[in-house]
Amino acid sequence: MDETKRPIYRAIVERYLNGTNLGHIAIWLTDNKIPTPYNIKLDGKNKGWSNITVQRLLASEIHLGYITYGKTRSKRGLVELVPEEERVKVMETHEKLKTPEEHEVIMERLLKNRMLNPNSRRNMFPLSGLLYCEKCGSRMRFRVGENKKQGQHWSALCYHQYKDGSKCEQRGKVMDADFFNALYDRIIHVDPNILREIELHGSRYNDTQVIIAVKEQELKKQKRALDKLHESYEEDMITKQVFLERRAILSRQIQKLEEELKDLRKVVVDEGNYPTVEQIYERIGEFRELWSVAVTSEEKNRTLKKLVERIVYDREGNRLELTVCYR
Ligand SMILES: [Zn+2]
Repeated sequence: MDETKRPIYRAIVERYLNGTNLGHIAIWLTDNKIPTPYNIKLDGKNKGWSNITVQRLLASEIHLGYITYGKTRSKRGLVELVPEEERVKVMETHEKLKTPEEHEVIMERLLKNRMLNPNSRRNMFPLSGLLYCEKCGSRMRFRVGENKKQGQHWSALCYHQYKDGSKCEQRGKVMDADFFNALYDRIIHVDPNILREIELHGSRYNDTQVIIAVKEQELKKQKRALDKLHESYEEDMITKQVFLERRAILSRQIQKLEEELKDLRKVVVDEGNYPTVEQIYERIGEFRELWSVAVTSEEKNRTLKKLVERIVYDREGNRLELTVCYR
């Protein structure tokens, strides 16, 4: 790092530690015509500083005086993060531009920030692909906003437009800590109506299996009767006329039973894909464990998707109704 950059780097660190957010630091740098560190554009135009450039500089370990090798590795074609203790950290000749204490505070704030502002890295939100509007059935979308009272925040909104040009009347909502707390409660305390529905389903499933067992017994009996009929005819105990009549009746019955069984087994396969109450509780336990350690939006999204199929959103006035559909 050349001498002119040193005071700039320190200014960035100090501003961030004093509570200025990434966006305002980027604006300040651009306004003061400070060249970006990655200003290699073919047209030579400087596009100015972005939040990500500021973040990258702040998070860099080079300015701690270290260089870390092997932060990522590829395993079976997939790139993964290497655990901290397996990385190779070398004290380099780089000048130290921040203390380890400063670095820690910076990283903590960046991590917190990333939870509130998931788009700063990837287009992923904890509820991506999961939130649906009750009024029109469309997927809800997420938008970042900023105001004095709440600072930077995310809102869920329905942008659906009907064929006649009218817009869905669903009202959006800021997804603050209260929103996520309410959602978490909704998820881990399964609605009694849903439980009853699942139990009913489970008992229907058991009924179907009982019917299948009965029909299977009946089918066996009919097949044995058909064998006996053949034997009787071979042993000349019944006439051909009687044999043919009885065989026709038995064959019809066997065919009918086989068709019924085929349909019943199909029903059982469909119903078997439905979770049981026990399975749901088991998955909720797993969800609570994973959620408590999920930090990034991606981790939260993955954790939610293991348990939840969709979340239906409906807002009337200030009352927000969230309905959770489990996998
Ligand atoms: Zn809608």
